[in-house]
Amino acid sequence: MPELLAPPPDGGTYEDLATERLFRKQRLAAALRLFSRFGFEEGVAGHITARDPEDTETFWVNPFAMHFGHIRVSDLIQVNSNGDVIYGEHPVNRAAFAIHSQVHAARPDVIAAAHSHSVHGKAWSSLGRLLEPITQDVCAFYEDHSLFDDFTGVVIDTEEGKRIAHALGENKAVILRNHGLLTVGGSVEEAAWWFITMERSCQAQLLASAAGTPIHIDPDQAKLTHSQVGHPMSGRFNFRPLLDRIVREQPDLLD
Ligand SMILES: [Zn+2]
Repeated sequence: MPELLAPPPDGGTYEDLATERLFRKQRLAAALRLFSRFGFEEGVAGHITARDPEDTETFWVNPFAMHFGHIRVSDLIQVNSNGDVIYGEHPVNRAAFAIHSQVHAARPDVIAAAHSHSVHGKAWSSLGRLLEPITQDVCAFYEDHSLFDDFTGVVIDTEEGKRIAHALGENKAVILRNHGLLTVGGSVEEAAWWFITMERSCQAQLLASAAGTPIHIDPDQAKLTHSQVGHPMSGRFNFRPLLDRIVREQPDLLD
């Protein structure tokens, strides 16, 4: 049974690129299993990508039409900037390529990007509004998420992906109107955690707004809280217990 690689001691990346690749792929498979555990899948929709540490124009992604809950490290495919599968036996989801290739191209700092049609994210996206600073947790996105205020059908061409990347800007997340959420990070852990907590923040705002008028956190306090819960290190730390849980429960994901 393959072992879960620990993070490099300095919190950076492994110097050995093959080790760094495996490190990213293990987190990617685990994140997909967690997305399944949280019920984020909707048929074939949804993808998480991780940039390859060596061939940095390419990324690793879950194959088309394979259940998130079944993904193993060995199932992940590598896709180049033309959308060709250059490693792996399975086909790529065209939407995954159209969106993620443009996000990775526009943001060299982005190692991973996550998107799915999770229920609360897509419900909130239909309102065409940014999340409000109503809880400590949602402050991770305070002045750090944007709205793609358009919908033109399933994203299958890279021009649409470019427009989404433009709407994302320098933020960690973008709400795709009438569609769902997209998050990015400097590691798979960050992108996955931002997605999980953003989906729950959409749920919290929908619940609170249905019950009454939520009180906003002051802008100064929201900014301060963003620097705490929205920091990349916070993303990595918050992902860790979820990673430990899913690897203990489903060790075959490492195969
Ligand atoms: Zn989608």
